[in-house]
Amino acid sequence: MTDTILSVDNLDVSFQTYNGVIKAVRGVDFDLKRGETLAIVGESGSGKSVTAKSIMQLLPKKTTMIDEGSITYENENLLNYSRKEMEKIRGKEISMVFQDPMTSLNPTMKVGKQVVEGIRKHQSLTKKEAYNRAQELLELVGIPNAKERMDAYPHEFSGGMRQRVVIAIALACNPKVLIADEPTTALDVTIQAQILDLMKDLQKKTGTSIIIITHDLGVVVNMASRIAVMYAGEIVETGTLEEIFYNPQHPYTWGLLQSMPKMHQDRSVPLIPIKGSPPDVSNLHDGCPFAARCPYVMKVCHDHVPDKEQVSETHSVSCWLQDERAPRIKQPDFTGGDHVVQTKTR
Ligand code: SF4
Repeated sequence: MTDTILSVDNLDVSFQTYNGVIKAVRGVDFDLKRGETLAIVGESGSGKSVTAKSIMQLLPKKTTMIDEGSITYENENLLNYSRKEMEKIRGKEISMVFQDPMTSLNPTMKVGKQVVEGIRKHQSLTKKEAYNRAQELLELVGIPNAKERMDAYPHEFSGGMRQRVVIAIALACNPKVLIADEPTTALDVTIQAQILDLMKDLQKKTGTSIIIITHDLGVVVNMASRIAVMYAGEIVETGTLEEIFYNPQHPYTWGLLQSMPKMHQDRSVPLIPIKGSPPDVSNLHDGCPFAARCPYVMKVCHDHVPDKEQVSETHSVSCWLQDERAPRIKQPDFTGGDHVVQTKTR
């Protein structure tokens, strides 16, 4: 058994639209190790959700083209799987939690029944066994009075409790991989923290590998072991949590860090947003896609896409500043005084 449970290699995904072809994901590579949490971070439109939905094959078949690449789960390329074969993978092997719990739950069906259905879809348990398992799952995700709450409808739950139910359904068949797409974005800050703690706790108990997708780097601080930063359909930097927070190398990652509130930061010091907006991926120019927003842009950035460079065995970045001919620059202080920046030594 290898260490890697899921591997995405050189994935290119595009959509056919009335305005032409949109290349939403380009050359995306990452591995998910057994039992780890990998965060995919980037602004909206960066291709992170498209990547997740490609893994689950949830994108509309008619308009989606997987132009290149492979998605290997337990040594099998999921892109070769038929719709029927994928149905066996979804929920049972790989499960997904979406941003808005209301869209994942059926408002007309009792919550307990929805969990039971999730269990019986892939497991041959009697009704009674599935009912008991559903109750156990609701207890596991921290629903108080789980036995009584089995008979309640989704609207009788708060937003945070609904998301707990969705997580219970996602875990119903003991999946090996859980993909959580902005699982806390629709929730207020306190509830966000509770759901993240819950996911962390569940991972410890179940050993599930997790991919968490978010626009907010702050969300992953206490959760992820590795982070992939996506911009305009590409992964521009990948590293361990420490590498991304303490020694980031890509100007876009610096921008994300500068725009993130810090625990000990003086509240009178304003956060610095990344200027401009992400590029239109249906009309990308040559060169680095971040060039129009990058404070360190050089001529070469407009002409050629930077290659991926290894900063360490676990840390890679695609930026011309890594080239030995590039000027040495002083990194901005994105720490808010929380930690010391290390500059790359050449
Ligand atoms: Fe900025 Fe150039 Fe690096 Fe792109 S390649 S992030 S434009 S310095």
